[in-house]
Amino acid sequence: MLDLDKRSITYLAGVGPKKADILVKEAGISSYEDLLYYFPYRYVDRSRFYKIAEINGSMPYIQLKGRILYFDTLGEGRTRRLVARFTDGTGVIDLVWFKGIAFVKDKYVINKEYIVFGKPTEFANTYNIAHPEIDPMNQADQVAGGLTPFYNTTEKMKKAFLNSKAIQNLQYTLLKSLNWDVAETLPSYLLKRIGMMSLAEAIKNIHFPESTEKLSAAQLRLKFDELFFIQLNTLRTATFRKRKLKGIVFPNVGEMFNTFYKNYLPFELTGAQKRVVREIRADMGSGRQMNRLLQGDVGSGKTLVALLAMLLAVDNKCQACLMAPTEILANQHYATIMEFLKGMPVEVALLTGSTKKKERNKILPAIAAGEIQIVIGTHALIEETVVFSSLGLSIIDEQHRFGVEQRSRLWTKSDVIPHILVMTATPIPRTLAMTLYGDLDVSVIDELPPGRKPIKTLHRYDNRKMQLYDFLRKEIELGRQVYVVYPLIEGSEKLDYKNLEEGFDVFKEVFPEYKVCMVHGKMKAADKEAEMQKFVSGEANILLATTVIEVGVNVPNASVMVIESAERFGLSQLHQLRGRVGRGAEQSYCVLVSSYKLSNDTRKRLEIMVNSNDGFEIAEADLRLRGHGDLEGTLQSGEGGYLKIANLASDGQILQYARDIANELLDKDPDLEDDTHQILNGRLRKIFRKKTNWGLIS
Ligand code: ADP
Ligand code: MG
Repeated sequence: MLDLDKRSITYLAGVGPKKADILVKEAGISSYEDLLYYFPYRYVDRSRFYKIAEINGSMPYIQLKGRILYFDTLGEGRTRRLVARFTDGTGVIDLVWFKGIAFVKDKYVINKEYIVFGKPTEFANTYNIAHPEIDPMNQADQVAGGLTPFYNTTEKMKKAFLNSKAIQNLQYTLLKSLNWDVAETLPSYLLKRIGMMSLAEAIKNIHFPESTEKLSAAQLRLKFDELFFIQLNTLRTATFRKRKLKGIVFPNVGEMFNTFYKNYLPFELTGAQKRVVREIRADMGSGRQMNRLLQGDVGSGKTLVALLAMLLAVDNKCQACLMAPTEILANQHYATIMEFLKGMPVEVALLTGSTKKKERNKILPAIAAGEIQIVIGTHALIEETVVFSSLGLSIIDEQHRFGVEQRSRLWTKSDVIPHILVMTATPIPRTLAMTLYGDLDVSVIDELPPGRKPIKTLHRYDNRKMQLYDFLRKEIELGRQVYVVYPLIEGSEKLDYKNLEEGFDVFKEVFPEYKVCMVHGKMKAADKEAEMQKFVSGEANILLATTVIEVGVNVPNASVMVIESAERFGLSQLHQLRGRVGRGAEQSYCVLVSSYKLSNDTRKRLEIMVNSNDGFEIAEADLRLRGHGDLEGTLQSGEGGYLKIANLASDGQILQYARDIANELLDKDPDLEDDTHQILNGRLRKIFRKKTNWGLIS
């Protein structure tokens, strides 16, 4: 069969070099396959033509077939409109346009047969349709049964005569030339097992649905395909690691863990923490290498879970390390953990970029000799020549700051690959987690420690700054500290930095009696640390920053978070930022400052923040609000291609099913060696062409 992926779109009848160029640039269509996988974004039910004589007051969208008798321009100024008298032989109806009058008049020809689509409304005892869709009758319509597909097109495409209809015609030409046949992607036994339609039938029906039932079946099949291959790829990576990579077995829950748990733990673990510790323990005792993602909202107590896991390693004569994305965080983890372990016979060291040479010369040999059991640090842990004697567990905090590349370097730290625990506070909806981190086992801390005062979130407009300053002054007088965050967005950095610096001047002027400090990404690392330290130590009362503080700084005394231009942040980011406060005993506040002019979506976003403190609820809302569009970027870089038809916001069940089927298949044939599975190998290679470094991806 013709390899549709390699066949350039320029070979298709009706596509010259100019159109081909626009198809590539505007729609990413360069091959036959690309065109077939350019799916309609909606369908309109046009299963029957209504007669004008049948029209009554309560009709949905309907379609009529007939001719325009003549045009008339009526009214003046705001009521100026173009009216086309339209007839199908049973009666006459008015088609009305208030905009684009000249364009419409030019476009449609009197007495030519058209299909008109729209919702009739009653006006002065007659019916009319305002701004109807009008299509000429054409060949592809004959195939399209009752449902007409609509394809996304850009202005440039339309100018080159590549509107939705034209795309449909291209699909028709292509499919006809292929005899309506497209090579299957699934082995036939599997297709039978899942009871879905063949790919050829699905492709045909996605472009030319024979009925609503067939269209649903086609959508199901194509969504399944898309999700199945992503799942097959990630699960294959995961099972490869599980089978081929032996884990260090931690059979003992020994002295350190027990002593700490019984005598040193300053509070009772939450139910969720207990459950997660059990999951980690079971994993590390299983003989397989652990690859686990620990998700927990900000402040849910992940550090303690990390510490318990590290003590388990120590109990089993292994070393453990904890890596943070910044020095400040590493310092903080070190301080926290030293405090927890005070009096326990465990050797802990801190290793970061600013660890002095003398100190380093002491620490490194001690790590190599196994005298130091727990090492806390930054990238320095992997970038420098750190040699462990027996590294059994690597924990990575705030995963999103570490690239896959950096994480994979952890593996080379010892002969036997250590267990890996990735901790993240970025709430990720379940479906996205399954897709992005589908190769990691997931543990979730879904409960906050008791006694937290929920953060109060307020939305204020930026023309009422004085009230805001008054509020901040009151809080500072009570001894609290304040964060003020400014957006820093790619493409507008210059202006963003300017806003930050102007803000700095304003705050210094408004609060002359208090100390204001500032950090941003353009500062030298050392300066940044120094400014940050002023705030951490309590010397500074107000910290202005770009989103560099997003990641886990812990300043319990900071109880107010002001987010400037809040409308420019995504929901998850807002939630992350808010999580910087609410860590102490005081009532904390998050103030979202926005301009008065807001789109509906933005207003909803800010409303959700005001109404909810639950990271997962917010992440799900985010996914619903934005669709998955915004997440596609992440997916694209993570998973060899973005989703064309499946939607992570609404196709959770199909995703789960695809994952189950992939699991089932890999259970029987983990390396896809079976003859019947070569078709899958081929497809995987095609989709994930650029990567596939088995095992070294975590
Ligand atoms: P995060 O998950 O954001 O990393 P942390 O580990 O920093 O959260 O914990 C936040 C705060 O909650 C810390 O001060 C920690 O000591 C405290 N904490 C953690 N677990 C509990 C618990 N079970 N009960 C009470 N306080 C807890
Ligand atoms: Mg943390």
